[in-house]
Amino acid sequence: MMGGPEGSEAAMNRSGSMDPVAGWNALDSVVLRNLRVVDPAGESRGTSDLRVRHGILEAMASELPAVEGASIDFGGAVVMPGLFDMHVHFREPGDEDSETIASGALAAARGGFTEVACMPNSPVRIDGRSVIELIHARARDACGTRIHPVGAMTRNLDGKELTEMAELKQAGAVAVSDDGHPVESSAVMRRGMEYARMCGLPVLSHSEERSLRGQGVMHEGYWSTVLGLRGIPAACEEIGVARDLALCELTGAKLHLCHLSTRGSVALLQRAKERGLPVTAEVTPHHLTLDHSHLRTYDSSFKMNPPLRTEEDVAALRAAVKIGLIDTIASDHAPHAAVRKDGELDLAPFGAIGLETSFGVSYRALVEEEGMRLDDLVERMAVAPRRILGLPGGRLEPGKPADFAILDLAWQWTVDPTAFASLSRNCPFSGWTLKGKILLTVAGGTVTHAAVAPPAEGARVPGGRG
Ligand SMILES: [Zn+2]
Repeated sequence: MMGGPEGSEAAMNRSGSMDPVAGWNALDSVVLRNLRVVDPAGESRGTSDLRVRHGILEAMASELPAVEGASIDFGGAVVMPGLFDMHVHFREPGDEDSETIASGALAAARGGFTEVACMPNSPVRIDGRSVIELIHARARDACGTRIHPVGAMTRNLDGKELTEMAELKQAGAVAVSDDGHPVESSAVMRRGMEYARMCGLPVLSHSEERSLRGQGVMHEGYWSTVLGLRGIPAACEEIGVARDLALCELTGAKLHLCHLSTRGSVALLQRAKERGLPVTAEVTPHHLTLDHSHLRTYDSSFKMNPPLRTEEDVAALRAAVKIGLIDTIASDHAPHAAVRKDGELDLAPFGAIGLETSFGVSYRALVEEEGMRLDDLVERMAVAPRRILGLPGGRLEPGKPADFAILDLAWQWTVDPTAFASLSRNCPFSGWTLKGKILLTVAGGTVTHAAVAPPAEGARVPGGRG
């Protein structure tokens, strides 16, 4: 039995020394049968077989003839283009206790992601060529998830002196951002956006009027009053969004608004798009599912920046991503070692891990609860990020390196952060039961995650899902 009830994966891992990924090896020659194709940017629909040879997706059609090598029947599981998370924080270099490039790459693979963009606020900032080269080198030694560094907009993220963006781009940066440290000076932000535009780099903006956040730890509203905790008003984000949209209009730079959390921000985004500004936006799975009432547990896993907001904000964010006004879903995966995160709410750092739950939580919120089409969810999570960053991929194309994830929607699993590939455990979804297990992730022709046993050489594995 391949799929099945929660716990199957653990049982499989206990059942022997088998390393599922190693068994799949280099995808020399395999036919993956009976897959439901969800490929919003491609032409293929319906049920299909996929033939992969030497890491290349060679053919995609129904009832492909057997070739040498193995085949495996997936019993109608979904195949979708590899997901792309354009907002993650890996802590290497500098805080390898919280996350390394290798552990983050594996967490991404487990979540169905084949590519991620990592933000520059690692303890050693991504503000020069050498750090980008180091990340590329570490990524080559990791499981195969492609990691695209985002360069800093200002040196050391101190909001004063611009980085050499042209050099960052040449080294491989796909965007610039001062995420986590919003550029306070509008004049610096303006010059940064002008320079980014000249370099052809999008600006990923953490839009926040920093002085309004003060020492706040949660959304300013009913629950912050009840709990006696310092609040962060919605205006803190909305002033930042309004400023950055005005600078987008002034400079013509491509602006991407990170982790929107309020309905006021959604309204500003809508007006800007209606006026034709080159703006895109993202939302996190936690802002689509959780509200400020969760802070009553005083559990620091619910302490984020921007903070969890109200039910009305959650509803507005869901509606916006459903219609594509918010373009993409990004996890803002923010690992923190327990020694720092578990403690007094006032002192704990902001953020939650999200790579291994992003798809399942989004599926539950948007497809199961809001009636969004699975095609549209895959568009938001695989197609849109690549479009925003100007990167290829995001579709199932014969002749190209195999890059996809196979998803069993009938497989329910319970979120257990202690079983995660991430080195950190600050997950706000612990104990949730989610639908949709990622059975297999293939990134650029390499198997990066497998929750199913590999087919035996030369033999057909019958049965598919039990
Ligand atoms: Zn941020």
